[in-house]
Amino acid sequence: MTSNEFLSSVMSFQEEAFDRKGFDEHIRNILREPKKVVEVSFPVRLRNNEIRVFKGFRVLHSNFLGPGKGGIRYAPYVNLQEIIALAMLMTWKNALHRLPYGGAKGGVIVNPRSLEEWEIENLTRAFTRAISEHIGSNKDISAPDINTDEKIMAWIADEYSNIKGTFDPAVVTGKPVNFYGIEGRKESTGYGAGMVLEYFLKKYLKKSKPRIAVQGFGNAGYYFSKYLVSKGYDIYAISDSTAGIKSENGIDIEHAKKYKDERRYFKDCSRGDLCYIIGNGEYQIIDNEELIKMDADVLVLAATENQITKNNADEVKAKLIVEIANGPVTYEADKILKEKGVVILPDLLVNGGGVVVSYFEWLQNREWKRWGREKVMKKLYEHMINTSKQVYEYSLKHNMDLRTASYDLSLNYLWDVAKYRI
Ligand code: GLU
Repeated sequence: MTSNEFLSSVMSFQEEAFDRKGFDEHIRNILREPKKVVEVSFPVRLRNNEIRVFKGFRVLHSNFLGPGKGGIRYAPYVNLQEIIALAMLMTWKNALHRLPYGGAKGGVIVNPRSLEEWEIENLTRAFTRAISEHIGSNKDISAPDINTDEKIMAWIADEYSNIKGTFDPAVVTGKPVNFYGIEGRKESTGYGAGMVLEYFLKKYLKKSKPRIAVQGFGNAGYYFSKYLVSKGYDIYAISDSTAGIKSENGIDIEHAKKYKDERRYFKDCSRGDLCYIIGNGEYQIIDNEELIKMDADVLVLAATENQITKNNADEVKAKLIVEIANGPVTYEADKILKEKGVVILPDLLVNGGGVVVSYFEWLQNREWKRWGREKVMKKLYEHMINTSKQVYEYSLKHNMDLRTASYDLSLNYLWDVAKYRI
């Protein structure tokens, strides 16, 4: 599946929402196209004085609800179609969560694992210079996404402030806590997803000990697992892009994280006793495709887009799917899974905890204040449960699945504002 197909998948969900609602055609036509696409090529000085030219993107899909908001990813597979699709998803996500933001996304084509930290800093600063006139704390606000973290956000804030000659840390969120960041932002996507799953588990699965499998053990996958373990659940299997580990005894999440930080990939963990430790005294190595098809009750997709497609949807055995990644289930797969009676907790709702706490950080920066961790977690919890409740009740009232309900609720709100802005 190509990024083009990812974009048409997101557009199909969007088109269906317009068909159902039948609002003014103008809003449909406007949201079919990104409002602004910025594509930049920029030179970066690397080791041995090599100067390499990189390509990056920043897309503002819509600013109906406020300044653009969305992450920046660094990956070799980044391309414009993908970034447009992700910016589009941000429009719907921000609307569903009632945040005063439009949808945006950015990315750089790079394999950050091939670079040293100082090279990543040079690249980040050069990318910031290249897009600086298109971003701003009231214009378009970035945040972490795949392979980007708080250090990268700090470099963007610093470079941007130097260019503008005025200190403006709110141009990005997800900064280090001591550099105008907020407590809990790092955990927020995973924890928020855990809160949403807890809310829906009681409604859709009557099992007290469901078997939970997690695809993707990056920042979101790890904090999601940690949250659930802290609530007494076991994680039955985890995977990264190279391999997965399954254990009847439940995965030792902290050992798995330690292992990932030190060695990077699960595929090598059978050396020594490391898989055995991660698997709590028992383990089986599986691949990503096996994890998707395994006998779990809950399948959590925390890796990247296009993981369940029309080619493997039929083989999914889980009863509940949790979309922590953006767009992990394609439009066609969504229909197949629905037919099979699988309940999907959709990305717009599930992974919104990240951007919700980004919003708290942005508010905190604008008031030059600091919120404590307790306040952040309490507000995150209230927010995620409140939005989950609205989606659930809307889905019952209109007899529809949770993704459809999420899109409809977003569109109702978008339309309420957009009608004054067209
Ligand atoms: N990259 C995250 C997302 O896809 C967070 C965006 C943000 O905080 O602006 O939702």
